[in-house]
Parts: sequence; structure tokens; C-alpha cells
Amino acid sequence: MPIASSRRRYMRRPPSRSSSRSFPARWNLTDLVKDPVGQFDAYLADLEAKVARFESSRTQLAPTMAGEDFRQLLDLSQEIAESSSRLGAYAYLWFSENTKNLEARSFRTKVEERLTVLSNRLLYFDLWWQGVDQDNARRLMTGTGSIRYHLETIRRYQPHTLSEPEEKIINIKNITGRSAVNQLYDVVTNSFTFTLAVKGKRLTLTREELTPYLRHHSARLREAAYHELYRVFAGQYDLLGEIFKTLVNDWKAENLQLRRFLSPIATRNLSNDIPDKAVDALLAVCRRNVEIFQNYFRIKGHLCKIRPMSRYHIYAPHQTEQKTYRFQDAVRMVLEAYRTFSPKLADLVQRVLDERHLDAQTRPGKLGGAYCYSVVPGFTPYVLLNFTGEARDIATMAHELGHAVHGMLAERHSVFTFHSTLPLAETASVFGERILSDSLMKQEQNKKVRQGLLLNQLDDIYATVLRQTYFVLFENRAHEMVAQGATVKNLAQMYLTDLRQQFGKAVKVPDEFQWEWLTIPHIFASPFYCYAYSFGNLLVLALYRMYQDEGASFVPKYLDLLSTGGSEPPHMILAKVGVDMTSEAFWQSGFDTIRAMVQQLEQTL
Ligand SMILES: [Zn+2]
Repeated sequence: MPIASSRRRYMRRPPSRSSSRSFPARWNLTDLVKDPVGQFDAYLADLEAKVARFESSRTQLAPTMAGEDFRQLLDLSQEIAESSSRLGAYAYLWFSENTKNLEARSFRTKVEERLTVLSNRLLYFDLWWQGVDQDNARRLMTGTGSIRYHLETIRRYQPHTLSEPEEKIINIKNITGRSAVNQLYDVVTNSFTFTLAVKGKRLTLTREELTPYLRHHSARLREAAYHELYRVFAGQYDLLGEIFKTLVNDWKAENLQLRRFLSPIATRNLSNDIPDKAVDALLAVCRRNVEIFQNYFRIKGHLCKIRPMSRYHIYAPHQTEQKTYRFQDAVRMVLEAYRTFSPKLADLVQRVLDERHLDAQTRPGKLGGAYCYSVVPGFTPYVLLNFTGEARDIATMAHELGHAVHGMLAERHSVFTFHSTLPLAETASVFGERILSDSLMKQEQNKKVRQGLLLNQLDDIYATVLRQTYFVLFENRAHEMVAQGATVKNLAQMYLTDLRQQFGKAVKVPDEFQWEWLTIPHIFASPFYCYAYSFGNLLVLALYRMYQDEGASFVPKYLDLLSTGGSEPPHMILAKVGVDMTSEAFWQSGFDTIRAMVQQLEQTL
């Protein structure tokens, strides 16, 4: 499990030529682990000794054990987690610098293998902890400070945990059951190849290579890429659809029948620690606000001269002034934007730069995309970018540095609780993007550049908010329908109907989009996962609206929210800024922000 909070870029660009713009030297990894390769055996021996010490106290474990002994064990487990995190981080960061570096690659594999073995040796502790009775658990958790929520998280599954032999059987049968079926999906879809005629040449492409054509500047290529994508997936709809139905039935058998969850989605909600009612409110409000994006795509069609607007073209790039920015200027813009909001945040961003924890230059072999890696509390996070000078790259910089400040603000918490939990993981990052874009919009006079800024953001918001919600709305219905014996074709028909409802008259949806769900790996591998994207992004839009309404008095509350990290349940963290996540009005205010952005765009016409 990578601890990094990586940014999913919806428009992944191939790393381009190294630019001649002046960049700081590469990041400095030596303050993470000194001489990791030379000292690897020594580090591991030390870690191994700690794990052995932890294991040796196994006989001591009892619900009635003394609080002091329990806390000592927790301290030891923190030490183990911190050393493992540093080593794991080094291995990953070194690999990211140049993924073709064989030495770095084999080091990473070696570290991962050894760390997995060690962490498996500690699993028994969680199982034991789940079984401790309520009164003793409460007694033992007293005085554990910031680790408390971590301990509660392990116990949260207790009402749905079966007996040890039953859990063992599920684990064993999952290897040849659920996991195997999932792997089948990966094997089949990863072997797909796509052919596309580009500039008179017939290209044979992987899915990764085909994807950029879905957003190509040529309308003909965009359309051809979608035809090809769905031609190939629809060719296997029978097999992929059966895989989906098997996974759905398995989910039902395990989570509803055995573990007694009340609905298929409730399992996911429990792992996110979000009340079912909050997710219901989010989904309902999203469904009610489809006309905002319908209006947006109508305007986009007009601006980009696409008639009629169809589903092939919603991600068409905006072809106007392509401004490019020097790295130094981009850094200055991000710092300025953060400083206007809060000098404290700007200082934290500066800390990343001063300590040389940023690697921004594009180089052959360097990992694509961008991420922030918060390693252990109190240690300045690392940020990887591939800066090519486009406006989008500045947004990515603000985004990843937002993750970094989030980790730094939460540094008083334990290694288990300083990372934000999933639903709130994108708060500081997306908020940082909003601060930046507001500051850019204020400075920018050029109408075309302003349009471009808004179009980029609204495309992103559509892809992260409404699109993700509709995946989950589909899953909700599909789980019901499969239980009632629906066929794969029934599911595809339902998907298409829903998609047409989403786009209304504004965007034509061709029949082949009925197969889109077959192409989304999350729907297979992590049921109901996608609403976390909508949750996180819409949450920030709503928070940003509070900032606009309340001004400076919002800032300390917001910083307080971030500094909680992942040490409290999401609903308690949000209560700090007066948010009730089960309230539809709150989610609606996120859409009000989107509506205001669309109006801003309309005014540039
Ligand atoms: Zn992110």
C-alpha cells in the first residue's frame, strides 16, 4: 500500500523533452535515510529486532493487561511503522527519479518484500484487539492520545467480524474466489490492443496509449478513439459482464448474508467512516444538479465550436492562447496565492522548497504525473512534479503542495493518524487549487486565457464530481438488479438510460457508451469506491464558498481542520467548521460554487 497521496491526473501527458528552464537540483533524499543501500542489512536487522521484541510480548496480551504495558507496545509499534515508512519511502522515491534504473528497481522490490513479511508478523495484534471486550478496550484506550482513532478504526469492523475459523476460510477462499476473478478482469483487459489510424498510419496501442486520444485536439481522432475503445470492450461484454456479476454476487454473499450489512454500499461507508445518510445526501444532491453541467457543456460546445455537442467531445481541449510559464514564476504564483490566504501556509510551502524536497524537472525515465509523499510526522514531505510550463502544471503544483502542507499541519499526530483518511484526503490539495485559480483569475485580463482557466477547472470538476457519482449510482442499481437476475444487457441498458438522464438534451450520448462501465476498473476491484472522489471535491467547493462568505474568520477554523489530520472521524473533523455532512443544503452549496463558475464562463462569451 503506497502511503503516498498521488494525484490522479485526468489528462496524463507523456513526459516531454527536458526543458532548459532553470530548475533547482533534484530533491535531496539523504535526510530520509542515510546510505540506504550500503546500510540496508543493518536497517533491516534493527527493524527485525524491534518486530521480534513486539512478538515476544504476545503472551502478555490480555484484555485485563495494564494500561502502561499496552501503551508501551503501542510506542514500539509506532517505532516499527516509522522505520518501515522511511525505508519504503526511500525505495519508492528513488525508483520515481528514474524508473529505468535497475538498481533502484531491484532495491524497491527487495524493500517491499521484506516489509510485507514483517508487517504480516504483526497482524495478530489487530485481530486480538478486535476481540477485546468494550469495557477493557475503553480502559486501554485512555491516555493513548492521537493513536486512539487508529485503535477505534480497527475495532469499527468488530460487529461485522466473524469467528476466527470463519475469517480464515474467507481469506483462503478469497484467493481463488474474489481475488482470482478480479485478476481475470485485469488479465483480459490488459491484454486488449487497440488500433487507430493516425496521420495515415495504423497504430497498435495499449489502453494507456489510447487514452490521450480521447482528449485529442482533433475531433475525428477523439471519436475514433472512443469507437475503438468500445469496439474492443464490447467484443468481450459477455465475459466481462459475467465477471462483474460474479463479483456482485460474492459481495452480497459475504457482506449482506454473512457480515450482516444492511446494504451493499454500507460496507464501503463503514471503511470510510461516513454515515450512510451522508452518502445518500451527497448522491441525491448530485442527481438533482445535472443541469449545471448540461449548461456547461452547452457553453463549451459553443466556445470550442463543436456542433452538435456529444459525449465524444466533452473533454475536448480548449484551443486558444497557450501561455507557458517559467518554473520560477510558477513557484512565485503559487506562493503568492497561498500567502494571500494564509502566511502560515505559504511558509510551509517554502519549507518544502528550502529543504529541497521538490523534484519538478521532466527527465527521460522519470515517473509520470505528480504526487506528494508524506513519510512520517514532523518530516517535510516530498513532492514530485513533471513541470512543462503549462497552466495546468501550476495547478498541479498548488495541488501537491496542498497535500504537503496538510501533512505538515498534522505533524503532532502519530504515524498512524497524521495522514488524512480517504474522504478528506483531497481537502488541502483541491482547496489549494481553488486559491490559486482565484488569484490567477483576479490577475488575468486576457479573455481567452480566462476562458481556458475556467474550462480546465470545470472539465476536472465534472470528471471528479458528477461522473464519479454516476458510477456509484449505477453500482447501487446494478447490485439490486443482479440480485433479481438481470442480464449483462439489462445492466448496459440501465447504464445508458442513466447516462442520457445525466446529459439531458445538451449532450448526445451514442449507444456504444452503454459499455463504459465495463472499462472502469474501480467498479470491479473496489465497489462503491468512486464516491470518495465526489465527496472530497464537492466538500472543498462547499468549504471554499464558506471562505468567500466569511472571509478571514474562516482561515483559522480551516487550518484547525487540516491540523487534525486523520486523528478523528470525518464527521467530527468537519464539525469544526460547522459542517453537517448529512445535510443536503451543505452539498448543494458545493454545486452553487460550480454554478457560479459556469456563470463566470458565460460572461466571457
Ligand atoms: Zn491529490
